[in-house]
Amino acid sequence: MRMHVEHDRPAARPPLRRVLAEFRPHRRTAALAAAGVAVMTVSIVLMPLVVELVVDHGVVGHSTQWVWGCTIAAAVLVIGQVVGNWLEVANMGRFAEQYLRALRGSLVEQLYSLDLDYFTHEPAGRLVSRLTSDVENLQQFVQAGMSLVLRAGLVLVLTVTLMFTQSVRLTLAVLVILPLLAAASAWYRPRAFAVQMRIRETTATMLTHVNESLVGMRVVQAFAIEDDQHEVFRDVNFDTYEAKRRSGTVAALYYGAIEFLVPIALAILITYGAHLVEHGTIKVGVVIAFSLYVNRLFEPIQQFTELTSLLQSAGASFARVFEFRAVVPKVTDRPGAVDFVHRAGAVRFDHVTFRYDTDGPAALSDVDLVIPPRQRVAVVGTSGAGKSTFAKLVARFYDASDGVVTIDEQDVRMVTGSSLRSHVIVVPQEGFLFDGTVAENVAAARPEASREEIEAACVAMGLAGRIAAIPGGLDAVVANRGLTLSSGQRQLVALARAFLAEPSVIVLDEATSNLDPATDALVERAMQTLLADRTAIVIAHRVNTAIRADRVLVFEHGVVVEDGVPTELAVVEGGAFARWVDAARQAAATA
Ligand code: ADP
Repeated sequence: MRMHVEHDRPAARPPLRRVLAEFRPHRRTAALAAAGVAVMTVSIVLMPLVVELVVDHGVVGHSTQWVWGCTIAAAVLVIGQVVGNWLEVANMGRFAEQYLRALRGSLVEQLYSLDLDYFTHEPAGRLVSRLTSDVENLQQFVQAGMSLVLRAGLVLVLTVTLMFTQSVRLTLAVLVILPLLAAASAWYRPRAFAVQMRIRETTATMLTHVNESLVGMRVVQAFAIEDDQHEVFRDVNFDTYEAKRRSGTVAALYYGAIEFLVPIALAILITYGAHLVEHGTIKVGVVIAFSLYVNRLFEPIQQFTELTSLLQSAGASFARVFEFRAVVPKVTDRPGAVDFVHRAGAVRFDHVTFRYDTDGPAALSDVDLVIPPRQRVAVVGTSGAGKSTFAKLVARFYDASDGVVTIDEQDVRMVTGSSLRSHVIVVPQEGFLFDGTVAENVAAARPEASREEIEAACVAMGLAGRIAAIPGGLDAVVANRGLTLSSGQRQLVALARAFLAEPSVIVLDEATSNLDPATDALVERAMQTLLADRTAIVIAHRVNTAIRADRVLVFEHGVVVEDGVPTELAVVEGGAFARWVDAARQAAATA
């Protein structure tokens, strides 16, 4: 058994302009940090020049003045290094924190602005990866990578420029080894990249495996497949080890070759330098200075590979972040959207057709109906018939492709989403519980609710007795998405949450989980209380729920094929509802 881990496709390189625009709000701190890097680098690069001057003028030229002058210059350069370093460290850290805070904020803001459509098309794993690994990658880049790139670039440019001003011939002679370096890098880069990709892949596979095993631990233990799982883990663990080992071998070869090039460059320098000194073309100090330059030059050249891959990976993360932030939700508040004015709760579908994909099949076709205030409507049909789609359109999770949905005579597209959803509440099958207390979970839809109101909602939903039995009561902490509560308790909390919100229209997907008879009766009663005196659209899975409704809508292939009083339709020979009742009864009997 091998797991397939899907990786993000490589994103296009973002234009530098875009990246710089990201940093604009923090440009003062960034500029100070860059100034620090510049001061430090210039101080480091100028030091060999001071050595050259002290040798040629001070030592060879026997000038005490030059010696003193150069000593002072060297002291200034050392101070420059220290001050520059301090300026960089102090500001780069601040800049990174400022930028990362803004970045995380913008990503989460975008996340909350997106609609359901995005989340159904985008696998949660990719989203999590974007929000964590890309941010982490950019964090490393702004905290350390940017300084490295800046410093290496400056050292390279300044050193080579200084060398050329001192002696063109000697510079060209030393730089002869550049093609060799380039060849070594050309060999190393694709290999390092491939190995890095392999490490990422195997690590991701390993993490996925561990995660799956943890989440599915009950299944693992129930079916006693620990040994199989262990073996799979051993395999992926070995793959990771192999990939890392190969990475070490490739790096050792490359860096070994580079180390070998330094003495070659120095040999060329000394031989050819001595020749030039002999002919009086240059002074001896230049050769000494060059030997220092050569050492300085190698570091950035050696780092070149890492720096380019650092830039590439930061570029890819930036691109993905930009791409994510550029997603425009399909369902948004229109300009000029007004607050929804809630009245009795009348729902109207005016020839509504809906397609999930513009050129895909219709999930709802020409649904045309009116639900008067306080009517309880059961929606039934086989799986895929369009029940949930119908429910989602009531709360405007999607916009109709054709036709209009109105609630209390207001086109749902013309009102703000937040005002609409405080009066039109959707209760999903499995109420999701957040980590927090029971009270916080009940008040999720109305955070400003008082303690008394929360307690009253729990009493009304018959939850009070159950809660009293939990240690901590209302303040008991619900951890791990509510797994510490029983399924019935979770449903009751979800119902209490909806009750507290006092909606005028409620859309409820009846839970299908089997509860013990006592809890089942409790949930049933809570549902009756919640739905009483409200316009209710219930996706019914049980015969009783459908029969008890004022009206039933039977969906087939996105079309309402029957619409009427359930008790009447149930006895229509061969009718769609009668068939559904039979099928549901049979399913319940065999369950
Ligand atoms: P039901 O709730 O009755 O089981 P749905 O309303 O979920 O049915 O689905 C109606 C049709 O729309 C089905 O053919 C289903 O495959 C399709 N569908 C549902 N959700 C999506 C989606 N997010 N993207 C594309 N098609 C979807």
